[in-house]
Amino acid sequence: MTGLHERHLAVSPAWLALYYRHPLELTHGEGRHVWDADGNRYLDFFGGILTTMTAHALPEVTKAVSEQAGRLIHSSTLYLNRPMVELAERIATLSGIPDARVFFTTSGTEANDTALLLATAYRGSNQILAMRNSYHGRSFSAVSITGNTSWSPTSLSPLQTLYVHGGVRSRGPYAELSDEHFIKACVADLEDLLGHTRNPAALIAEPVQGVGGFTAPPDGLYAAFREVLDRHGILWISDEVQTGWGRTGDHFWGWQAHAASGPPDILTFAKGIGNGMSIGGVVARADVMNCLDAKSISTFGGSPVTMAAGLANLSYLLEHDLQGNARRVGGLLIERLRAVGARSPAVREVRGRGLMIGIELVKPGTDEADPEAAAAVLEAARAGGLLIGKGGGHDTSVLRIAPPLSLTVAEAEEGAEILGEALHAAT
Ligand code: PMP
Repeated sequence: MTGLHERHLAVSPAWLALYYRHPLELTHGEGRHVWDADGNRYLDFFGGILTTMTAHALPEVTKAVSEQAGRLIHSSTLYLNRPMVELAERIATLSGIPDARVFFTTSGTEANDTALLLATAYRGSNQILAMRNSYHGRSFSAVSITGNTSWSPTSLSPLQTLYVHGGVRSRGPYAELSDEHFIKACVADLEDLLGHTRNPAALIAEPVQGVGGFTAPPDGLYAAFREVLDRHGILWISDEVQTGWGRTGDHFWGWQAHAASGPPDILTFAKGIGNGMSIGGVVARADVMNCLDAKSISTFGGSPVTMAAGLANLSYLLEHDLQGNARRVGGLLIERLRAVGARSPAVREVRGRGLMIGIELVKPGTDEADPEAAAAVLEAARAGGLLIGKGGGHDTSVLRIAPPLSLTVAEAEEGAEILGEALHAAT
């Protein structure tokens, strides 16, 4: 009998990324834990970003999904369904965007694609400003605004993209600058770029870069950008696929760390909104959302089953103040990880906000990124019963930690300890 991995190789494209030398086959989950096909249990320090925002097998979401599945699964945006309208109303209000409209998709890629469709049509331009080291998805348009070269596999593009500084500053000429001078330098870079471009439609940015290695610019950067963009009529798209729903602890959306600038013109969301069910979407001001002059539908966007999951998940995380939990437990976790990191010469930096924490690895005694060490720590953590992620620029040397938002203090402490052992064993 052929193993699942061999069967997977036979049907899947070679470019599909897969973690671990011996890929992990998950069978079930509960709370902050998942189990593999061999019965091993893992504390899940990455599933919160992947899909499971709140907790695995959250009874409230399971109940909402199964009840709705028993009533009606059929839908397309050609018909109305109550959970879709209710979730749209709640997200419109939460977005902070005045007179907001919501369109549901099934992924972050499709959400960003829709945002680009709107921005380019609204502005009559296919020129897009994006951030260096960014990741926005895997469609033709999303890869062409992805600055992280290891995830933008083609140089062909339907858009003309110009990359702006600001998303990451841990290396290069900007590394030594204070927050204030960093912001000034990035604004000057943007102004310089706009001095010799025609008419960009929008700037798209992740408030904290996710795939790029959990790097956050100083608060206020996008407020400063906003002033420049407004002078040129350029829209601001905030890609909140990883930062939305309170993950960063201090704010419900990542853009709120730059609040002086007010809300973005367009906001995209996805990943854990449905606690594992496929929901993505776009929120925009009515004049932007309504600028298209032909009809369109989404067959699966806004499906009542996924919308029921989204509503149940949103209610749960608001009622249980999981944003506050991300701030409190995330604060403690980053402290513990800094203590653990201080004992390892391979750790260059432990950074993050709320439950979005990155640990950057280097070859000891140098400033050289160490992707092999990151891969080895991932394996060692798995052996210790902990799942984490990795990311960063093309060198993929950052360990990424993003547990479900219901993480407890005891689990944070346990995970930090396992990670400390993994760092010790693998670097
Ligand atoms: N934007 C960001 C910031 C992301 O992190 C991702 C997924 N890693 C996407 C967009 C694409 O989302 P999806 O995989 O659901 O298409």
